[in-house]
Amino acid sequence: MTVRVRFAPSPTGMFHVGGARSALQNAVFAKQQGGVFVLRIEDTDAARNRPEWTEGILSALEWIGIARDTYEGPLFQSAYHAEHTKAAQQLVDAGRAYYCDCTRDDVQARTDNKYSGYDGFCRDRGLPPGEGRALRFRTPDEGVTKVVDLIRGEPTFENKLIEDFVIARGDGSPVFLLANVVDDMTMGITHVIRAEEHLPNTPKQQLLWEALGHTPPVWAHVPVVVNEKRQKLSKRRDKVALEMYRDEGYLAAAMRNYLMLLGWAPSGDREIVPWSVIEDEFRLEEVNPSPAFFDEKKLRAFNGEYIRALSVEEFTQACAPWLTGPFPTEEERAERGYGVTPPPWDADRYDPAVFAQVAELVQTRIAVLSEVPSYVDFLFVDEPVIDEASWAKASKDAGILPDVIAALRGLPSWDTESLKNTVVAVGEAHGLKLGKAQAPVRVAVTGRSVGLPLFESLEVLGRERTLQRLVRLSPDAA
Ligand code: GLU
Repeated sequence: MTVRVRFAPSPTGMFHVGGARSALQNAVFAKQQGGVFVLRIEDTDAARNRPEWTEGILSALEWIGIARDTYEGPLFQSAYHAEHTKAAQQLVDAGRAYYCDCTRDDVQARTDNKYSGYDGFCRDRGLPPGEGRALRFRTPDEGVTKVVDLIRGEPTFENKLIEDFVIARGDGSPVFLLANVVDDMTMGITHVIRAEEHLPNTPKQQLLWEALGHTPPVWAHVPVVVNEKRQKLSKRRDKVALEMYRDEGYLAAAMRNYLMLLGWAPSGDREIVPWSVIEDEFRLEEVNPSPAFFDEKKLRAFNGEYIRALSVEEFTQACAPWLTGPFPTEEERAERGYGVTPPPWDADRYDPAVFAQVAELVQTRIAVLSEVPSYVDFLFVDEPVIDEASWAKASKDAGILPDVIAALRGLPSWDTESLKNTVVAVGEAHGLKLGKAQAPVRVAVTGRSVGLPLFESLEVLGRERTLQRLVRLSPDAA
């Protein structure tokens, strides 16, 4: 039997990192098994779906390494409406589902407000279908439903505790529980690898599989992803969108490696490993069922290591979206909720040959690619914006600047070594160690107190522009 897995996102917003993790696990598992990965877009919630979110899912998957030619689909749940209603009718015909006209208030009144699921009132009333009548599944009164879960063993649920749940609404439209199962059946899915949040749905869904005459799939509920306070990552509170990480300059290779480490680790004492090792070694059975901590600090450190492992050419290429765009407009960014912020220079001022001179220095210092412009902007703007706090501190020793200016004007060779020697010598004459002596120079020239090594920066910037900037902030402007 060919293994068939699916990833079944709903296109209702940005692409959650937890979703990306499930997608990767599905893709890796399918590849290991020589199976098929199906992408199904669960687009039946018309009020919340937007076609651009579907496009967003496809491009996010592509970015993370799941190329469009490696999966079947996208298939759209909305195209299978006939199958959903046919399955509902099959359950009615077999006596496994019945119509119900109870409101929640009715049930509550009958149960002294101790509502803990539907009380079965309409089970034997034999109501015909009708406007406003929901269709409920008749769950067995006895026995247990045991699901086989590669991560969680064999969670067992007592059937009498499972309420007669709704499978189609009063307007006849099938609900998620049913549509999701029917699609999995129609698409021949053998293994359902999905988020732990769906575990409570699983016994109900397995009962549907059985009632519809099919062998249920093997399940794998991957652990919930939590923040440092052990709260489930939420759209409102946490940065959850894969698109945001992409725009912040996380490398896809770092991101997908990190996502696979949520609840699992390769053999040995290793975390950063080639993707092929993950594809070889990953086992769903080894995934830890406890909540997985999404540690952004660790991810940043991880990303820094991936950045340093690139060749300078690869690094330069990877930086392009933050240096040369194309950039979304402000409106586009506001509308989408994400997007790369353009750098502070005019596009025609950017010079790749100048960037090439500092690329390696930048590469060793950053954790995410969106930091790149702040390291090199002083090379491409007319005048840097001076950070006030940095200048407040550095300006204490700004008395050194007139002598630095004089010495640099006459410097025979404009190179890193000579520049350094000059500032050291002027500093000594003023009784200042190099750290203090270079601080006002750095802030005047780059606008900030931290950045690339100063003398290399001055060499690349050139004499004329360096002097202009020093003069601008010199107490004794000449
Ligand atoms: N559309 C559901 C979700 O995004 C899919 C659940 C499943 O994988 O079965 O949560």
